[in-house]
Amino acid sequence: MEQDKSTYIKSKIDELLGLTIDDTRADQLADFYEMIIEKNKVMNLTAITDFEEFVVKHFVDSLSIIKISGIKECFQKPVNVTGDIVNSDTEINIIDIGTGAGFPGVPLKIVFPDLNVTLFDSLQKRLTFLDEVIDKLKLKNIKTVHGRAEEFGRKLDYREKYDIVVSRAVAELTPLCELALPFCKVGGRFISYKGGKGGEELKNAEYAIKELGGKKGTICDYTFDTNDAINERTLIEICKVKNTSSKYPRGGGKPFKAPLHMV
Ligand code: SAM
Repeated sequence: MEQDKSTYIKSKIDELLGLTIDDTRADQLADFYEMIIEKNKVMNLTAITDFEEFVVKHFVDSLSIIKISGIKECFQKPVNVTGDIVNSDTEINIIDIGTGAGFPGVPLKIVFPDLNVTLFDSLQKRLTFLDEVIDKLKLKNIKTVHGRAEEFGRKLDYREKYDIVVSRAVAELTPLCELALPFCKVGGRFISYKGGKGGEELKNAEYAIKELGGKKGTICDYTFDTNDAINERTLIEICKVKNTSSKYPRGGGKPFKAPLHMV
């Protein structure tokens, strides 16, 4: 870990999100960056390797979920005025569908260590790398699971077991809702990280959201500048208000080949 990298990460997260992180967490993020860059020489993990661009497009972007109202509070165990945890039984289970190189799941776990995180992906070699990250950074209450979302969303151990489901850059919103909402508990929420076209995708997904037991929550549009561009982002919150019908998710590639639309 290099001190100036940690300092840069800390100041950028503070500047762009108003979030203060301590030195240990900044060091862990810097170590995670180094591990990705090293592994990227032999495995395709990310196209973004420039450090400053990486910090904004991967770290700040992953943590931007705190822009959704109530999320930051939900990610931390409640404390009293003297800083003691008042209800240590509260456990927030979060699954990152299609985590790839660990985004947004790993930065969320580093910055919010109370979270119980599942990193889910259909590509085992990326998960093997993430197991090395978990080991090296000594992260607790975080695991990798290998599988396809459309299969695991039907399994009893995974179905409607998560308070928060997150996913970034995996699929268009309509099929993604069919993959993600079955994992979410009633009363929980699915938050999809989208680029600038998120609003359009949301219009197309309205029928699917309702059919799958969801309800549109907060939609958060924001931009951040990097040297190369102004980056547009949309966070889409979908609240789980009813159990998902056992019809979903459909197998045989149907979420993609025949996305849920009103007939
Ligand atoms: N979320 C990461 C990010 O934002 O950098 C990775 C995005 S990458 C473009 C998409 C990832 O989703 C890949 O690692 C892929 O293996 C995984 N994926 C795609 N379809 C999936 C499915 N049906 N079930 C589980 N993982 C899936």
